[in-house]
Amino acid sequence: MQIYNSATHRKEEFVPREPGKVAMYACGPTVYNHIHIGNARTFLTFDVVRKYLSFRGYDVTFVQNITDVDDKIINRAHEEGKTPEEIAAFYTEAFIETMHRFGIDDPDVRPRATQEISEMIALVQLLIDRGHAYESQGDVYFSVRSFANYGELSNRNVDELESGARVDVNELKRDPLDFALWKAAKPGEPHWNSPWGEGRPGWHLECSAMSQKYLGLPLDIHGGGNDLAFPHHENEKAQTEAAYGEKFVNFWMHSGMLNIHNEETGEDEKMSKSLGNFLLLKDVLDTCDAEALRLLMLQTHYRSPLNFGDDRLKEAASSLERITTVVRNLRWSAQNAAPSEDTDLAACDSAREKMHADFIEAMDDDFNSAGALAAVFTFVSFCNRFLEENETMGDVARKAAIANADAIEKLLGVLGIHITQEEAIENADEVCALAKELTGYEGENVQDAVEALLASRQEARSVKDWARADAVRDGLAGLGFVIEDTPNGARVVYGK
Ligand code: AMP
Ligand code: ZN
Repeated sequence: MQIYNSATHRKEEFVPREPGKVAMYACGPTVYNHIHIGNARTFLTFDVVRKYLSFRGYDVTFVQNITDVDDKIINRAHEEGKTPEEIAAFYTEAFIETMHRFGIDDPDVRPRATQEISEMIALVQLLIDRGHAYESQGDVYFSVRSFANYGELSNRNVDELESGARVDVNELKRDPLDFALWKAAKPGEPHWNSPWGEGRPGWHLECSAMSQKYLGLPLDIHGGGNDLAFPHHENEKAQTEAAYGEKFVNFWMHSGMLNIHNEETGEDEKMSKSLGNFLLLKDVLDTCDAEALRLLMLQTHYRSPLNFGDDRLKEAASSLERITTVVRNLRWSAQNAAPSEDTDLAACDSAREKMHADFIEAMDDDFNSAGALAAVFTFVSFCNRFLEENETMGDVARKAAIANADAIEKLLGVLGIHITQEEAIENADEVCALAKELTGYEGENVQDAVEALLASRQEARSVKDWARADAVRDGLAGLGFVIEDTPNGARVVYGK
């Protein structure tokens, strides 16, 4: 399995630090607002990485933090006349709920910055003791020049950074490049007691403290959007490696940004809270299936930019419909097709095996979900042909139809795209009820009910009772079934 390591700028064979186990960390949200679909793209990326690694047999431990103390939370609290704790609690809960709606699994550990203050203080103290940090009037700064490899991850040169940083003069820092590990409390801000007085942690600190605490070093995989590579991840790396003297991360994974078209400038620009061009995930999920949005996002490789638009969402919804339709038809035909002799289905077995192999080959190649989905779509087209060629089915064809439906569902399930069959099951009851109403059928077997309906329609047609024949056709259509008249007689197709 190959993973593109953004620290080395190339794909590398994935070898976990401990065979069969993966220690994985991804930066979580700052809880001062609802998340937008750009954030959701990044969270989805790492959800799929985790799901796929589990599918490949790894025992994955996934940690994702919640940043619940931060300037943005404090500002929001002031704006709304609430406490920062209230703001953070509200948006943490909203975040978790929306993640569930989007089909994203909970991490194994979801540490919150405010619950890990003593670990962070210990880390700051360690950095001071090792000469990598210094206190200055209640603040503590990391001394960037004390860490020789600073800039390595994001490919930046410290001297060039220095000239850029000179504008940002802060008397408390010895060097403009230095960044805050601990900030002295200002009035009205959340604060904790520390060896340097009352204060609160700097943003980068929590990920270093929490990942080391819950996963140990080095992490197999550390992820986030590529906007976090600098300064956030560079600073996390410097803190961790300077404090513990060990490598921080084996595989750095950075996902591409979700962009949205700006009509005024004609440019695609990054979706962000500050540009005001964002769509909240919860609002988008009110207008579409989570599955369709996942499909849209996963049809682009996670490292490429993704341009979002309503037209693309509509396309994804109809692609999803194509998949659910074929899966339903496969299951429906397996149960309801008229019986016949068996035919040779070797081609069907090999098409199914090929989908499986192509799916894995694509995902093993740096989680190429777009390629994996293409393999599924190729097989969906095959299944449509299979259904056309097998209007009648022997036992082997029935088993093949079910195996095809199962295989599609299983592989999409690895990507967190679950196509539910509830509708089909619910409809089975309704078909029986319709048959009862129109034909007096008393049983509960959907196949018998359909046969009774078709027989009744046939009989109605033979006596030119078009109203009754149409009632059968319209009743079935209302439940998503289409009657097709074939040379072998009428048959019913589900959801075509
Ligand atoms: P934040 O709450 O701003 O720290 O962002 C949470 C996550 O969303 C981070 O991993 C960011 O890299 C990611 N992110 C922010 N904006 C976008 C975007 N437009 N597209 C993709 N990911 C994003
Ligand atoms: Zn982080």
